[in-house]
Amino acid sequence: MITDIQATRNVLLGQSLEELTQWIINQGQPAYRGKQLYQYLYQKGVRSLEDISVFPKQWREKLADYPLGRSTIDYCSTAPDQTRKYLLKLADGNKIETVGIPTQKRLTVCVSSQVGCPMACEFCATGKGGFTRNLKAYEIIDQVLTVQADFDRRVSHVVFMGMGEPLMNLDEVVKAVKSLNQDLGIGARSLTISTVGIKGKISQLAQHQLQVTFAVSLHAPNQLLREKLIPTANHYPLSELLNECRQYVNITKRRITFEYVLLANVNDSPQQAEELAHHLRGFQTHVNLIPYNPIDDADFQRPNKARINEFMETLIKQNIEVTVRYSRGLEADAACGQLRVSNS
Ligand code: SAH
Repeated sequence: MITDIQATRNVLLGQSLEELTQWIINQGQPAYRGKQLYQYLYQKGVRSLEDISVFPKQWREKLADYPLGRSTIDYCSTAPDQTRKYLLKLADGNKIETVGIPTQKRLTVCVSSQVGCPMACEFCATGKGGFTRNLKAYEIIDQVLTVQADFDRRVSHVVFMGMGEPLMNLDEVVKAVKSLNQDLGIGARSLTISTVGIKGKISQLAQHQLQVTFAVSLHAPNQLLREKLIPTANHYPLSELLNECRQYVNITKRRITFEYVLLANVNDSPQQAEELAHHLRGFQTHVNLIPYNPIDDADFQRPNKARINEFMETLIKQNIEVTVRYSRGLEADAACGQLRVSNS
């Protein structure tokens, strides 16, 4: 029933103030109600037009079922570190995962950009579940509003590191980024897009001149190993990927973060750190090392602390800025790479 409505009518979430005002006028209402609608959608996070108390009672009751574009929480689990993982049900019945990660100063939401993921990386649970469809911009914005309401706290950061490959859904991701920035008031630099790297798409993203933080998942210091870990990399030689990254830096004047999942005895030797450093020489960059989080159906191990430190020190000696990111939410299967609908 709702699916039929969604197919024939434009959902309201994701629309700009101007578009909403036009919709209000088309409904025969005074234009100033456009601003009210905008505020209730993005600031108050209403789930139904019926909840907009400043609207005339009869009219909002009539429109109670009009699709706003909100999902419902199907399931939520909280890890001991207070990270919460949500399973959200979309209007068409598909389910996606979203994670809320609180610290004293920040509330970060890790959003999905697709239902499933087509990239099939060896070490990632999402890829093992296959790909269903791209998300619409409003379905990305909804995830942020949902976490914001559940924590009853303003979301300060959003990372596109949930299910899916954001650059395979570039138009909707860019639309969502602009809305999160303009309509929800989250600073562009507090928004991070993470990609495994899709040929031609990094330059396309650069053209949008978003002031977001941009991260590229490298995970290997050479093409041979990269292809083993990321099967889709066989269409995209490492040298080409790095060239496109250089273009991105030239166009946007923003530096790039490289992400590197550390897998014991696969990509974590000091020699491999040297090889990685060699590729990154002359790059204004920052390397984010992510010790592997265990998933089902994969044989990888997380390296021990000494090995992680050795890798890190080798990069630092080569003048590369490095951080080690221990994922939060491990106990709720909410950490990097652990998101998979069937798990929950
Ligand atoms: N498709 C995008 C964003 C999703 S994954 C990308 O690949 O960048 C976000 C980060 O988590 C990526 O760097 C990804 O490689 C990493 N990741 C995936 N599986 C992981 C695992 N099991 N342990 C640790 N990090 C993982």
